Amino acid sequence: MFIVWGKKPVYRRLGYVAHFCPICRGPKPFEIRRVGSAGHLYYVSFGSGELVGYERTCQECGTALQAEPADHAAIAQRLAPLPELIRATFPQLEQVFAARLALEEQVRFNPAALSADDRQALIRGPFLLMSAKVDQRFARTHMDIGIGLAIAGAIALTLFGPGLVHLIAPSTDGGNLALSCLAVGLAAIVWQAVASRPRFVRRAVLPVLARALRPLKPTQHELEAIVAELGQLKHKMAKRIDVAELQAQLGPRAGA
Ligand SMILES: [Zn+2]
Repeated sequence: MFIVWGKKPVYRRLGYVAHFCPICRGPKPFEIRRVGSAGHLYYVSFGSGELVGYERTCQECGTALQAEPADHAAIAQRLAPLPELIRATFPQLEQVFAARLALEEQVRFNPAALSADDRQALIRGPFLLMSAKVDQRFARTHMDIGIGLAIAGAIALTLFGPGLVHLIAPSTDGGNLALSCLAVGLAAIVWQAVASRPRFVRRAVLPVLARALRPLKPTQHELEAIVAELGQLKHKMAKRIDVAELQAQLGPRAGA
């Protein structure tokens, strides 16, 4: 019998803070969590584990970013309206992010006046952020709904497939049939495991990129240039980004 053990991340919610969200492009409420690394046995862990760091998740777009509790005057225990949360947890937010907030104001109201350098940096930022998430995700095999269903299907097929076929066609060789069912089940798991990476990019990366880039209305040329740049720098995400699909998610007004 397999003994499954090792280390796994353990998250503990600390409360809520206000901070700048580079995807929403403004101050937003975040949930802040302590991230620990704890030993587990069959994925059951005890305690909060050794401190790895802190993570803040934007309550508007769901993006998780690295957090620094020292940035905050306090951590609120409940999710208050944003101005109240800023006053309680990050009263210096406007001063700390003054330059960035001025730039974001320009993105919203006068994007044509942005300098070429600022524009390029504003487009590149969300790509670099999401590239780090893709690397993190691809570093391990993650179970997603497709893989889970394939495993459940493979088990059901192996358990019940031979019996069912035998009922319909009693003369079939039972041994070969069980092996065939097992092979089909395993092939389905491999197929879903291979498909899970493009699926992750399509469902979890492109919508976030589209949300962050939409106010900038990037052209197809600008998107292709950043994807090519990431490709040269050997970012794994570069091979997975479909610029046409990203443009479709950006909406009809973008890419003109
Ligand atoms: Zn956000």
